[in-house]
Order: sequence, then structure tokens, then C-alpha cells
Amino acid sequence: MTKSQNISYILHHQGEDNLPYGAVSPPVFQTSIFCFPSFGEFCAALGDEVNRSLYTRGNNPTVNLVEEKLAALEGAERAKIVSSGVSAISHAIMAFVESGSHVVCVEDCYSWTRTLLSSYLARFGVTVTYVEGTVTEEIFAACRPETRLIYLESPTTFTFKIQDIPVIAREARRRGIKTIIDNTWATPVFCKPHEMGVDLVVHSGSKYFGGASDIIAGVIAGSKADIDKIQAEEFLQLGTVPDPFMAWLMLRGLRTLHIRMEAHFKGALDAASFLENHPRVESVLYPFLASHPQAALVKKLYDGGSGLFSFRLRVKSQDEVARFTDRLRLFKRAVSWGGYESLVFPYAVKYPVGADIPPERLGLVRLHIGLEKPEDLIADLEEALR
Ligand SMILES: *Cc1c(COP(=O)(O)O)cnc(C)c1O
Repeated sequence: MTKSQNISYILHHQGEDNLPYGAVSPPVFQTSIFCFPSFGEFCAALGDEVNRSLYTRGNNPTVNLVEEKLAALEGAERAKIVSSGVSAISHAIMAFVESGSHVVCVEDCYSWTRTLLSSYLARFGVTVTYVEGTVTEEIFAACRPETRLIYLESPTTFTFKIQDIPVIAREARRRGIKTIIDNTWATPVFCKPHEMGVDLVVHSGSKYFGGASDIIAGVIAGSKADIDKIQAEEFLQLGTVPDPFMAWLMLRGLRTLHIRMEAHFKGALDAASFLENHPRVESVLYPFLASHPQAALVKKLYDGGSGLFSFRLRVKSQDEVARFTDRLRLFKRAVSWGGYESLVFPYAVKYPVGADIPPERLGLVRLHIGLEKPEDLIADLEEALR
């Protein structure tokens, strides 16, 4: 356990002590099948598909190496990579519910999490209640006898609301309710929810784990029993297989994760503080600003913050939002986040040009602070605000 907590050990040695030819970087096992020297060994592998390399839809050594490191980073017994963050979320939720189950979920969760619960799983008799998530009592007041799962995402990524992770996990466990959290924003560098008692931690690996905006990937981490179950059922059945080369790119990203996260944190704090003091900005939603309504809880749960936050521009029309957005030169206009590059995502882009936008959403702008020099990014923001 002490070894698995040490990021230097994880990055250099975990699973890599016997690489062929003394290679520093492990090979990519770009193979779909594995063959066996005898009937007996073939038979043994076929009988233990969860643990053995037989077919890459089940296990692959490149994928397994990254999984071992990810489990260690989260302080979990086991982790599984899948082909997208949405797939990780779907596998984890579907592992814990059945027809007739009720789920309590935070209302500002990732949009595809919401469609899974409200539309897709509704077809199979799963019901859901959404709660704001900032008041723990409200979460448990929404629970019913048939509640099987509480789904958290902290912070939510546009509104940046925090949930009291260890308190919720403890009470859920006492009631026999499973918990899942989307930890994509913080990464295990800044928060380890499984160690706080959450059953399953899910991630979009397309964000900071890859770190270069060049892969789509998902991660599920938890106890060996829970992950073995997911591998044997949802994973092998639904077949959202991680490609070995994608896993290898994620491994390369993980080597620099902690250094990148520190840089994103510093840049985001600088940019958020600048914006907070600008007259054209109404408010800034960054968990590590003293002005965040849950600042004390943030300090208790998180060792740092990532590069993603929102702010509210003082604007009266979608056109003003468009002018600000188009004026930025270092921030690219795109969805997603977690790469080396800075991005801007105005909420108003979700509406057709000229549409009526609710005032509380009109000026909402999400930024991802990349790895550029913070002073250059601030100069770019200042220019566009002017
Ligand atoms: C991007 C994202 C996802 C979905 O991940 P994909 O890899 O795009 O499928 C889930 N949760 C959060 C918080 C995200 O930002």
C-alpha cells in the first residue's frame, strides 16, 4: 500500500521492472489474439478470461500495464480502461442497477450521464432523482428503499458545485447503497475518492490522463471484486475495447500527469484571479478562489485544482459573447479539455445564432487553462475583454 501511494514508484517501476531488451518505454502489444503452446494451456486460459491474455477484447498486456498504474494512482485494488469516458460511466452505472432500481444523481452531471439515466436506462425500468448535491441531507432525503446507487460528479464542470465525498460515501455504505464518482476534473493527483470510501471512480481518460488531446479513453477504478464483475459482465459483453496503442499513449501521458496538473493549477488560479478583478466579469466559478461558496470544503477534499473553470461575462446579447470569443487568439474554440492547450467554450454556443438564451446562462463561459505561460493567457483575455 505504501508503494502504491508513491507517484515516483508508480511512474518508473510499477509493472515495468522486466521490460524486454531493457527498453525504457514498453512495447505496444498491437495484437488481437494470443496463442498457446498446448491444449492444456489453451484450456486454462479459456477458463480464466478475466485474468489471462486470450483475446484483446478481454486483456492485453499494454492495456493491463496502464491499468495497474491507474489503480495505484487512485489507491484502488484494480482499474479497467475502456474506449471512452462515457463507456466507463455506462459500465459502472449498469453494473450496480437492475430493473426497478432507483438512482440519486447530481443534476449538473456530464450530459451523457444524464441521458443514460433519464432516457436509456429508463427503458429498462431504472428511475432517477436529481439533486443539487451541495447539501448532503438532500441527497439522502431523495433515497428510497429501492435506491441502489448514488452518482456523484465533483465538481460539476460548468457550475463547479462540490459534494462532501467522504460523508456521502460513509452514509451510503451504512445504508447498503453503492457510490460512483466522476473524478475527471481533479484527477487522482488532487483527489482520491476511492480512499474516501466511494466504491467506483470513473474518468474520461480523454482529458488529463492523455494530456495531449489525441485519445478518447475511459477508466473505472475500485475494488477487485467490483472491477472483476464489470470485466466479466459489462466489459466483455458490451465490448467497448481499449485499443493497445491508445493505452500506450495514455501511459505516456501519465508519466507527466503530476507536473502538468501543478502547472494547470497555477495557471488557472492566476487567470481566475485576474478575471475576478475585471470590471467586465460578473463572477468567477473556480473552486480554489476564496469567493467560491464551498471554499472550506474544497480545501478539505482537494490538494489542488485543475485548469477548468467558468466565469460570467457582463453581456446583454449572444453577439457580445461571440465577439469576446472570436477575439481570443491563444484560446481555441472547442469542446472538451485536459490537453496542453487553452480552450474556450461559451455556454451560448449551445444555442442557435440569434436564439433567446436564459440570462443566467447567457454570459457563462468555460475556460480550460492549458500549459502556455499564464501571463500570455491573461494578456489574451485582457485584450479580448477590451
Ligand atoms: C469528457 C467528460 C466525460 C466523457 O468522456 P469521453 O471520454 O468524452 O467519453 C465524462 N465526464 C466528464 C466530467 C467529462 O468532462
